[in-house]
Amino acid sequence: MTIKRIGILTSGGDAPGMNAAIRAMVVAAHHYKIEVVGFHSGFNGLIEDNSVILTDNDVSNIIQKGGTILKSARCPAMKTTTGLVQAASTLMKEKISALIVIGGDGSFAGLLALQNQWMGQVIGVPGTIDNDIDGTDFTIGFSTAINTAIEAIDKIRDTAEAFERIFIVEVMGRHSGHIPFNVGIACAAEKVISFENFPTNNTSAGEKEKLATLAKEIKLAQANRHSSYIIVIAENLWHGGATALAQQLQVTANIDCTACILGHIQRGGSPVAKDRILATKLGVGAIQAMIAGQSHIMIAEQNNCVTHVALQVAIGHQQGVSESLVQAQENILALTAQRLC
Ligand code: ATP
Repeated sequence: MTIKRIGILTSGGDAPGMNAAIRAMVVAAHHYKIEVVGFHSGFNGLIEDNSVILTDNDVSNIIQKGGTILKSARCPAMKTTTGLVQAASTLMKEKISALIVIGGDGSFAGLLALQNQWMGQVIGVPGTIDNDIDGTDFTIGFSTAINTAIEAIDKIRDTAEAFERIFIVEVMGRHSGHIPFNVGIACAAEKVISFENFPTNNTSAGEKEKLATLAKEIKLAQANRHSSYIIVIAENLWHGGATALAQQLQVTANIDCTACILGHIQRGGSPVAKDRILATKLGVGAIQAMIAGQSHIMIAEQNNCVTHVALQVAIGHQQGVSESLVQAQENILALTAQRLC
């Protein structure tokens, strides 16, 4: 079947490089004489039939821009049969043969949920700063997010050094440690606290134990006249986050530290070269896979080559942080009591 019209949308948390992926898909689709309909605000655009035909002009001068020109959003209605039926009805009304979604694993679950209501091809492109999708070495947005966090922590390091202060910096990543571990290593953080070295099934007793070890190590570092001390902590890990941890260190061990939550600055900004290039490779790859008749796949990069994996595989398991990275930080690089004595 010749494909004449396809739909694209961005869904879930926005990631730098989503615009580069949109541009690549539109340019590639037009090269193959295929029309592209962009749906606004994630799956909401499908349910509400809020769309626009994307022209070359719409995607010129966007490769360097953060965010997404199509907007992104969460869309709880996609988890209901009524929402799925409405989404499918829009796709049929708009005569869409294939739908490409740039997003994270939740967005891919939404894409798969559509299959009971709609017969078109579905393809996912991994766009999330969390880098937690299985089957691709990197996701669009991850490299920019870690560079942004590194830049911010380098600045924090300057003031921490000047005032001989302890900082607890909370970084994003949802429930994955790719951002905390990579950022921690790149900033020579004295400590990284993440899911990989502090499992979430840890109880408040686990937190107390970790708090006591941390307090001991910080005191030793102070005794050794270590002038600054940076702890990088994953969001969604410690009860109450970095602010609570700072308060607990103050109350239990009289340690003065400053909590800093990097928050959404990690999502914004111009994508770095690596994300622009990855987004372009995956965007073109998605159009070519679609023309080849592929469906229910995620376009991925493995060992620098564009490939694809089944969407079910991509969402079935979270990509873990490299064990050697975790071990190097934990056993060699972190400032432990052992290293200080
Ligand atoms: P990120 O983790 O980077 O924020 P994500 O794509 O994983 O990206 P989610 O909020 O998990 O973000 O999912 C985005 C959207 O995908 C949801 O708002 C919803 O519209 C849709 N979605 C998620 N899970 C499902 C599901 N099981 N069934 C149908 N739709 C879903």
